Amino acid sequence: MTTVAKQRLIAELRRGGIDDERVLAVMTAIPREVFVSSTFVERAYDNMALPIGFGQTISQPLVVAAMTQALDVGPRMKVLEIGTGSGYQAAILAKLCRRLYTIERFKVLAKDAEKRLLDLRIHNVVYHVGDGTKGWPPQAPFDRIIVTAAAGDMPTALIGQLAVGGIMLVPVGDDPVNQTVERVVRTEDGFTREPIMPVRFVPLVGGALPTFEG
Ligand code: SAH
Repeated sequence: MTTVAKQRLIAELRRGGIDDERVLAVMTAIPREVFVSSTFVERAYDNMALPIGFGQTISQPLVVAAMTQALDVGPRMKVLEIGTGSGYQAAILAKLCRRLYTIERFKVLAKDAEKRLLDLRIHNVVYHVGDGTKGWPPQAPFDRIIVTAAAGDMPTALIGQLAVGGIMLVPVGDDPVNQTVERVVRTEDGFTREPIMPVRFVPLVGGALPTFEG
């Protein structure tokens, strides 16, 4: 059942424009059912976002695949992810890069994600609980940065933590149901940005977390 559903999803990703075989291989290898709550296991291979608690979601598979493909990650790269969530995108990235640094503001989500990745024997990930809009200055620069929550404005602090020639993908826009993933490339004297696709992400929330949450 799972295999058939997964094959159907991979075919859907191909039709959706995913042609990077490394990305397709990793999406085939990582079991998405491990990242969703038991209530949604039957829908783990549907091409849709699913709730993971705290009002957050595991992203839609086609969006994960398209952003991973656009990020153009290489095996020697150091990558930063903002918004660990379920850890699904983190698992995909970890398989493609040297080391992944991932930041999540909800401690429970970060801990659950870490456990899932360890169960999958993924060990090249460093986790941090906190405000990802500030990035991870002691570990900068990063070859790649991916933001998996929607920023109201371009998070410029993160651009400063990109290596020259490095790429950042970030959904930008304050409309809750319609944002645009922008591709930012760090240059010697600044950066370039271009829109690449429309998406719908939960918001990137800056600042400290109220103590009653997470
Ligand atoms: N990449 C995730 C998608 C998670 S949804 C996955 O594959 O499942 C976005 C996540 O970003 C949520 O878990 C949310 O709590 C987190 N988030 C939002 N604002 C944040 C911030 N400022 N710093 C760190 N994480 C943040």
